[in-house]
Amino acid sequence: MLRLIAPHLHVDSVCDLTLARLEELKLSALLLDVDCTLKRYRDPDVSPEVVAWLDELRAGGIGLCLVSNGMGRRIGRIAERLDLPFVAKALKPFPFRLRAAVRRMHFPPQRTAMVGDQLFADVLAGRLAGLTSILVRPIHPEEEPWFTRLKRPPERYLVGRMKPGKNSPMG
Ligand SMILES: [Mg+2]
Repeated sequence: MLRLIAPHLHVDSVCDLTLARLEELKLSALLLDVDCTLKRYRDPDVSPEVVAWLDELRAGGIGLCLVSNGMGRRIGRIAERLDLPFVAKALKPFPFRLRAAVRRMHFPPQRTAMVGDQLFADVLAGRLAGLTSILVRPIHPEEEPWFTRLKRPPERYLVGRMKPGKNSPMG
């Protein structure tokens, strides 16, 4: 069970996943969580820094798709502004919609990572879908709704126990 919520990699920010780093990791596509991963929960928009990062990856041929448990209209608006495909109401940690997105986008599963800030949603869904799971440090998690904040203390405890040193792959 612990293995299923163990990310393959921890990063502080999505922006640490540069083209060079993705090449090193042999990744060619990313499924991206939205809230607290790409942007603050309360911000309607992604920061210019993250927009620039997305542009760089896109220019480098990295496949990108937003995969959020959020509602269609809100996530759809963000996806439209970023000009990215998206899956809303993804039902993470269930892996079905991640697998469907990977198929639909023609992403090679062995070269695709799920990137997100929650062990019990993003990391678990990525693992169950047979993808690489990358955990990012949440952006301003105190802004999240209470039902998400409830999961943070056990997450921090587990991440602390699992962390073998930042950025080291965990197999
Ligand atoms: Mg999130």
